[in-house]
Amino acid sequence: MPATQTRDVAPASRLENVHYAIRDLACVADEVAKKGHKILPLNIGDPLNFDFETPAHMIEAVYKAMRDGKNGYAPSTGIKEAVDAIRAEAARKGITNIQDAFVTSGVSESVDICLTALLNPGENFLTPSPDYPLYSAVLAKLDIELNTYALNEDDAWQPDLLDVSRKITPQTRGIVLINPNNPTGAVCSRRMLESVAELARRHNLVVFSDEIYDKLILDKDQHISMASVAPDVPVVTFGGLSKNYLAPGWRIGWAVISGESAATRAYVEAVNRLLRSRLCASHPEQYAIKPALEGPQDHLPKVLAKLRSRRDLTVKWCNSTPRVSCVAPRGAFYAFPRLDIPDPDEVFVKELIVKKRVMVVHGSGFGQKPGTKHFRIVFLPDEQTLTKAYASIAELLRERYP
Ligand code: PLP
Repeated sequence: MPATQTRDVAPASRLENVHYAIRDLACVADEVAKKGHKILPLNIGDPLNFDFETPAHMIEAVYKAMRDGKNGYAPSTGIKEAVDAIRAEAARKGITNIQDAFVTSGVSESVDICLTALLNPGENFLTPSPDYPLYSAVLAKLDIELNTYALNEDDAWQPDLLDVSRKITPQTRGIVLINPNNPTGAVCSRRMLESVAELARRHNLVVFSDEIYDKLILDKDQHISMASVAPDVPVVTFGGLSKNYLAPGWRIGWAVISGESAATRAYVEAVNRLLRSRLCASHPEQYAIKPALEGPQDHLPKVLAKLRSRRDLTVKWCNSTPRVSCVAPRGAFYAFPRLDIPDPDEVFVKELIVKKRVMVVHGSGFGQKPGTKHFRIVFLPDEQTLTKAYASIAELLRERYP
């Protein structure tokens, strides 16, 4: 019998550009954990890793749905009561001209579907730098070349409009705005949103407005939805249960498409073709959407009080520690401090895991401005845990760079 010839299973070459630094670091952490050490995860934005709980009435709603036999497939766009609640919530945020709303497996799936339904080979879509890496990963999967615009650290991480204008080409189809922002915690002003809308009108762009943290505003700012200031511009607004409603494991997100009906009709139909082809989002969990959006909101003041205190502690530490500085985050639960060190930030972050068992994410994992160095902190843990983690980071900085 001839010897069996083994052949390599070659992966698609476009996947070489798919990286997700937030989870890619887990390999280094696994090695440390195998030696019996416990690692403090300041890398993943999961409130359930810390002292936050999914509101009880949402859990009850899912439990009831399961008991009531809502365990089959759901409609592709989501159950009616959830879609109605999402539309009503969008209307409360001042969004008019709503052309479609649908439920997906987290905002992650909405983004994947909405980019896939839009982009042709050779086209591009503007993403921020630094970026939440979901966007660049999906674009790489679609074989779309990255076209990034700068968030300006000297302007509290607001989009650099001049850079946005410079980067728009005839092949540019749209722009991603993450507001409140991951990884920087920046919140966009009305004026900024109006300026982006103006650029979108002039260059026929679709705006993807990722508003998954819209209820986690830490200062006196009011969150303003991009779509509410530009009803004539095609905008896809993303939201979900993962962050505002402390249920990331349920994988429930949604998107609302707004703009002129004639202009968005074909796009909405393309999105719906993809929604049908992947069947549906998790069914019983969708029964928590209406209770979340329309039921008691009393978890929010408690969450915000904790986040404000932890944000303040983080910023104070950053700005009193040699080689670290930070723009104060105004929303979400991330800070993106700048590092003044000679080594690449990835080297420092890996050493921090190995030597101090604290896990943050290197700024290069978010496609930061070349030549700058940062790390992203998730400031969800309690004050005592954060204080300990920051002491360890300061210690490593002193040891490495005396
Ligand atoms: N968009 C942003 C800006 C995020 O930070 C995250 C998760 O951290 C997501 C989307 C993904 O959210 P989901 O859990 O709904 O897929």
